[in-house]
Amino acid sequence: MGSGHSFNAIADGEVALSLTDLPINPVVENDGRQVSVAGHCTYGELALFLHRHRLAIHNLASLPHISIAGAIATATHGSGNRNGNLATAVSGLEIVSGDGRLMKVTRGDADFAGMVVHLGALGVVTRVTLDVQPEFQVAQCVYDGLAWDKLLANLDEIMALGYSVSVFTQWGQQAGSIWVKRTASTDEWPAEVHGATRAMLNRHPISGLDAQNSTEQLGQYGRWSDRLPHFKMGFTPSNGEEIQSEFHIPREYGVAAIDALLSIREKFAHLVQAAEFRTVAADELWLSPQYRRDTLSIHFTWTRDQDAVNAAARHIEQALSPFAPLPHWGKVFTGHHIGGKYEKLVEFGRLRDRMDPERTFSNPWLENVVFGSGEG
Ligand SMILES: Cc1cc2nc3c(=O)[nH]c(=O)nc-3n(C[C@H](O)[C@H](O)[C@H](O)COP(=O)(O)OP(=O)(O)OC[C@H]3O[C@@H](n4cnc5c(N)ncnc54)[C@H](O)[C@@H]3O)c2cc1C
Repeated sequence: MGSGHSFNAIADGEVALSLTDLPINPVVENDGRQVSVAGHCTYGELALFLHRHRLAIHNLASLPHISIAGAIATATHGSGNRNGNLATAVSGLEIVSGDGRLMKVTRGDADFAGMVVHLGALGVVTRVTLDVQPEFQVAQCVYDGLAWDKLLANLDEIMALGYSVSVFTQWGQQAGSIWVKRTASTDEWPAEVHGATRAMLNRHPISGLDAQNSTEQLGQYGRWSDRLPHFKMGFTPSNGEEIQSEFHIPREYGVAAIDALLSIREKFAHLVQAAEFRTVAADELWLSPQYRRDTLSIHFTWTRDQDAVNAAARHIEQALSPFAPLPHWGKVFTGHHIGGKYEKLVEFGRLRDRMDPERTFSNPWLENVVFGSGEG
């Protein structure tokens, strides 16, 4: 187990193995181009270490509390047309395999691309090496009052407005707000983009909620790690009163997919606390939902009503089915044998046979959802 932030049974088993009592021991390597650290280190802890060395990673998810090994297991991501998910920063792994071997692999080794988005299926990720870069500054602004027709007519332009862009919606009459995160630029922030107007107060992703725990938004530059997540480091964004789902679709189907969901929104909108559109760049990692495809990722934060959410997820999966959707591995979906949608599943299965022949690290979720061979 990592930090326990997944919303389905991916991390559930008869035995839970936690590494949190081990030291994280971060080390700068390769003249400051990489950092290695224990797999259970959180991104928040990593950021504190990187600050001391004036380094940064390329992106962060909406919260810094998750572990690196747990995040890469599920291809956790932030946003940005050119930003790969967080697993794409991994350049080396140390794994204790199911049969007890200590394995070290680096990018370019055989099977490396199969081991990074690992679903917890291969063994214990004890250490991770990540690509890092010199620290950089980010500023963000929020634009309110985006209309659906403007979003649909300008989706690509909107998602290209900054280094990382999110569109938040509650699937109501208006689309919602655009959150633009830019890296150092001297350009003025426009007062209006595509009919949405620049907010002069900080916003919370859920419209109307207190923004005091949101990261600073009023266009001032600050540390990458204080702007890329939506929530401040010292704050716990979720108190458990939510469930999340997310579906990744190829970027070119973005407008049609949003349109399809708009036409059935009465089936799910009442359960939505907040929903978010993000973009994630293509990669070469076998079980990444971005394997060889740039995606638009459609996220839902639901109120906590599991049966109603399952029904809503079923409607959404049906509406998105023409658009080759792949669910976020760590969130709620209803499909069976999702692994079968991945062209590299057979290779991943062979890799698992070699690394965990006795299925020490399997669980019902893996057998059902990934391999389609069991109950779960
Ligand atoms: C409030 C909230 C906000 C979120 N925001 C985002 C977001 O912005 N973007 C996004 O993509 N996702 C987001 N998520 C989902 C979350 O990032 C993923 O579910 C992620 O996998 C959770 O990491 P974790 O450390 O909690 O891992 P867990 O949920 O504990 O485990 C996930 C998987 O990793 C395996 N695992 C963990 N550690 C190890 C290890 N050391 N060795 C081997 N296997 C291991 C587990 O067995 C399991 O298979 C969010 C979740 C929450 C609760």
